[in-house]
This record gives sequence, C-alpha cells and structure tokens, in this order.
Amino acid sequence: MRKKLIAANWKMYKTPEQTAAFFREFLPLVAAHTRDEIVVCPPYIDLQTAVAAAEGSNVAVGAQNVHWEKEGAFTGEISATMLTSLGVTHVIIGHSERRQYFNETDDTVNRKLEIALENGLTPILCVGEVLEEREAGLTEDVLRRQCMRAFNGISARKAAKLVLAYEPVWAIGTGKTATPQMASDAHQVIRHEAEKAFGKEFAEGLRILYGGSVKPENATVLMAEAEIDGALVGGASLDPASFTKIVKY
Ligand code: PEP
Repeated sequence: MRKKLIAANWKMYKTPEQTAAFFREFLPLVAAHTRDEIVVCPPYIDLQTAVAAAEGSNVAVGAQNVHWEKEGAFTGEISATMLTSLGVTHVIIGHSERRQYFNETDDTVNRKLEIALENGLTPILCVGEVLEEREAGLTEDVLRRQCMRAFNGISARKAAKLVLAYEPVWAIGTGKTATPQMASDAHQVIRHEAEKAFGKEFAEGLRILYGGSVKPENATVLMAEAEIDGALVGGASLDPASFTKIVKY
C-alpha cells in the first residue's frame, strides 16, 4: 500500500506574514490527519517561516526549486544544503513552469534530482505533456523521454525517496483536469519507465502524484484511482479551507 502524498505548490504567492497566517489556520484543520502525507511548498523567502510554523506538526515543508551545484557563483540561486539547513525536507523539480519560462531542461532536471537525493531531500519530480503533444499522440513518448533522462545515472538505492508528479501542462491552472483514466494511463507509462530504470520492486513502491487543476470538487474521484498516489495542488492550495478539503478528499 502506497501512502498518498498531498503537496501544495504555492508558486509565486504569499509573503512570510501570509505564510504564518496560512499555517495558523491550516494546522488545526489537519492536525488529526494521518492517512496521507502533507507537504507545503512555499516560495524560498517563506521557507523559514513555514518550517518554524510547521515544527512538530504532521506537515512537511518543501521548496519549489534547487540548484544542481553544491555552491558557487550562481547569483540568485539556492543550494540543496541551504534548504536542508533550514529544515526543508522536500523539493519540487522540473515543474512545467520552470521548463517553460526558465529554460529547465531534461539535463538540468537530472542534475537537480541527483543533488537533491544526495542531500537527503525528497524530490517531487514533475513530468507531463503540453496540449500539442497530447493532440499529436505523443504523450507516451514525452513521458518516457522526460523520465528516462531524469533518471539517467541514478541508482535505485540513491533514488529511494523519489516521488513523481504527472502534470499534464494543459491542465495546470486552466481548470481543465485529466480524467482519472487519462491520469491512470500516464501513471502506468511513468511506472514502467521507473521499472526499467530502478527495478520492479522500486516501481511498485513509487508514488506518482497527479497535478493539474485539482480542486475540492474533483479530488475524491481522482484519489480513488489505484494508480494515483496523491496530488500536487497549485491554485487550490493557497486557501487553508480549500487545501484541507483536498487533503481530506
Ligand atoms: C501546479 O502548480 O503544479 C498545479 C498543478 O497547479 P494548479 O493546481 O493550479 O493547476
């Protein structure tokens, strides 16, 4: 049985004050919730506030990005050790907005995955096709390529903490959701790639989240799917009540 993971991706929303206010309201709402793992990924500047607020609770804190080098002359970047030194435990890698707007490539995703795993972070690796690729029948090819390149050179032992997120780009922030069947099919492709790279046992234990306009209204149906091991939630995670409803799908 894979324990589901429900993760919030706040993108570029909320100040430290707003982060503290979110946690004040959110933590009591989910305090008794043990069925699923809960992770909140705020912007970098909110991480310290979030970690302090979540201390001793059932909510973990993740970053939305990490640099692939240990340290160096990389103005504006943040390293894996900087994240762990704050008490951050998770990191989103390869989100489609970073691939689309910030030149994230399969190669940088691979390097970020390596450094995150090396430092004991739990990476939430995002893969997914754009609309043109789905319409051209290329979804499987895209998912296979993104997974294969991301996993390149990483051993099953090293990848132990890895979590995947299938995020069809056409469903992110658009209000369009993949059907449970579409998500399930994509998850099977991803699981198969994980099996090729890391073996059958690893693939069977691998958690694959679905992301793309998950809302309180559709969370129950999506989470009922055997292949869906949780959710990566953008817009609907910004409000404590709405995110709680998703956590408690
Ligand atoms: C995301 O940012 O990963 C995401 C899935 O966003 P939304 O839920 O808003 O579609």
